Amino acid sequence: PRDLTRSNAHYRRAVQRLPLGVASTFRYWGDDRTIYVDHGKGGRFWDIDGNAYVDYRLGYGPAILGYADARVDAAAMRGMNVGGVFALSTERELAVADRICNMVPGMDLVRFSNSGTEAVMGALRLARAHTGRESYLLIEGSYHGLFDAAMWMVNVEDWQPGGNLDPEVVSYSKGIPQDLKALAHLTPMNDPQKLEDVFKRHGSSLAAMLIEPIQGNCCGISATTEFVRLARSLCDQYGVLLIIDEVKTGFRVAKGGVQSLHGVVPDIATFAKAMANGYPIAAIAGREEVMRTFRYGGAAHGGTYTAHSVSLAAAEECLRILDETPALATIASYGEALKSGLSDILTRRGIVHSFTGHSSMFGLFFAPHAPDNYRDWKLSDYTFYDTMAHHLHDLCIICEPDSREPWFICEAHDAACLSDTLKAVETAVDLT
Ligand code: PMP
Repeated sequence: PRDLTRSNAHYRRAVQRLPLGVASTFRYWGDDRTIYVDHGKGGRFWDIDGNAYVDYRLGYGPAILGYADARVDAAAMRGMNVGGVFALSTERELAVADRICNMVPGMDLVRFSNSGTEAVMGALRLARAHTGRESYLLIEGSYHGLFDAAMWMVNVEDWQPGGNLDPEVVSYSKGIPQDLKALAHLTPMNDPQKLEDVFKRHGSSLAAMLIEPIQGNCCGISATTEFVRLARSLCDQYGVLLIIDEVKTGFRVAKGGVQSLHGVVPDIATFAKAMANGYPIAAIAGREEVMRTFRYGGAAHGGTYTAHSVSLAAAEECLRILDETPALATIASYGEALKSGLSDILTRRGIVHSFTGHSSMFGLFFAPHAPDNYRDWKLSDYTFYDTMAHHLHDLCIICEPDSREPWFICEAHDAACLSDTLKAVETAVDLT
């Protein structure tokens, strides 16, 4: 297997100065398995030991065109010449906002942020300011970022299959004030009865319902069109704003995001990852009447680095490519080829499996039917997947280790990536 001598040595030094030796907790993969990247190019990255990996995590989605894309990087360089940030706006903001509104049906106005967390936090603030209400509804298993209001989940241990018991709501993290819990309501994905019930009980006090129609942190568990449409109509009935969180899916699964595939227009949508091929920028978009609540005396919004000239120029070019070239079709066809290659390998060995999500970000399950909600996902057995993923890492193919995140595809994943991947998968499956 691969040599990790330098990464291991670096880890031992890094951990003296950085908690877990990393800058983001999810980048810690264990004392002996935490790797440090030297650079990325296309669908691959190289670690500091010189191992070359085919990467299906892509920074959790942003590298939609591949690492170090020359077109986007040249645009970023032009943005660098602008000078970074001012306590003023630049013309390019309008060009990017126009592009977003032209790509995503029903979006009238745009504000920029730096990260997905910031965008969703701003969207919830906006919904509260607009409705004058404070509580909100989340779908179990969704991830909307690191801010306190987003970090609630259900205690699956409490849940009895077939029972009616409402599981306890618990925070994802220590350090989140328990007093905030009273404002957060949770409901399972794809359960129309429970959705109607929760609206009946709490609808008139909800500012917003947030939904991530393909759940990135649950391996691509997907809302059905009927479920998203029911959410839209219940929100309308109760005066609740529908926030569709497209931070991971926007400009990836379709130009108009998952919402466009479901034919649903939210009041507010949030975008980030794929919009600038990895440069940090996010957007809050929505319908005019709601978005105009961003004003003095309305919802506060801003930020020192908002619409940074480098990220903004990268976004302008990345969105142009996604809008005007066949990049998304290329990504989808690669995803289909990879899925069918995986299927062939598994089927030949009689291994039952299924997929979730979209060809551009798909989850793989070792069960006849992929789960369609967090509770079933959480209770499913993914030992086989985990073991296979670890073998794949040793063979220099990177997918999420613990069956949480889907496999992300970029435009630069090419035939060589595909054949390297499938060769490694055969070996990994046989070792598992
Ligand atoms: N919403 C969704 C749907 C996400 O997938 C993520 C990131 N995984 C976020 C919000 C938070 O984005 P960030 O990590 O940029 O703060």
